[in-house]
Amino acid sequence: MNSPSLTFGPIPSRRLGRSLGINNIPPKVCTYSCIYCQVGRTSRFQVERGEFYNPEDISKSVKSRVEKIREKGERIDFLTFVPDGEPTLDMNLGVEIELLKPIGIKIAVISNGSLIWDESVVNDLMMADWVSLKVDAVSDDIWRRINRPHKALNHQSVLEGIIAFSGNYDGEIATETMLIEGVNESIEEIEKIACFIKDVSPSTAYISIPTRPPAESYVRPADEEKINLAFQTFKEAGINTECIIGFEGTEFGHTGDVVEDLLSILSVHPMRRDAVEEFLRKVGAVWEVVDELLEEEKIREVEYQNSRFYIRTIK
Ligand code: SF4
Repeated sequence: MNSPSLTFGPIPSRRLGRSLGINNIPPKVCTYSCIYCQVGRTSRFQVERGEFYNPEDISKSVKSRVEKIREKGERIDFLTFVPDGEPTLDMNLGVEIELLKPIGIKIAVISNGSLIWDESVVNDLMMADWVSLKVDAVSDDIWRRINRPHKALNHQSVLEGIIAFSGNYDGEIATETMLIEGVNESIEEIEKIACFIKDVSPSTAYISIPTRPPAESYVRPADEEKINLAFQTFKEAGINTECIIGFEGTEFGHTGDVVEDLLSILSVHPMRRDAVEEFLRKVGAVWEVVDELLEEEKIREVEYQNSRFYIRTIK
């Protein structure tokens, strides 16, 4: 049986290139009920791993989609477990990864990390090539406010589990931190998060904001000032950091169009004034380009430690 709803895409992803999505969990079965969740409030709150779909059905669905895409001559960079819920709740995740390995495409899992203290979850994640873990808060009260975890979860175990996993995992780890106005954007919390992520040592730490309607209508994204504050704090901690603020920017613009390239870079990395000047000098452009973008409100100038930084205006 081939259930099309088990797979989708491939969709372009800045983190993963062309990513074919796998829905190994029905919507919305989750360990968290994040206030910003773009698929609404959690309808089935659970922490026990369970069986949701037949692993063979998932494997067949992925293989058939991969075949069709390959027939069209298109590329797929990752097979990504990214359901509208928590993928590690699926007790067959490891079996599914095993079944998909022969396809020869790298496998990614986008997890909230809440079950990473469980050895069976660790064993399954170890088999993936790329794992993303959520780190929205280090303080317990903020974690409860933003992620609204299942009452059986213990934050300390989650944090310790993430550190232990990062020490043993051979693949690539990314972290994702969603910044919400008035919840986790204070400098005190940002510094704690940076300090924690430094120990995780991810290949990239992503700072993001909600770009689609959140589960709770009172949720507002952090503003450009706070995004830059978090970006610079992470950078100063020695963490390779990128922003995801609603644009599919690339780290290094290369279209040859100065405006497009600058916007693309500034949507990923806020830049200090001297770095922007250097960029403009290299491409033979003048500062008026920046003035125009400021006037059109496509970028914003923000202050950080007595320097001026430029960042793409959030969507
Ligand atoms: S962990 Fe992901 S799916 Fe679960 S509530 Fe949070 S944002 Fe939604």
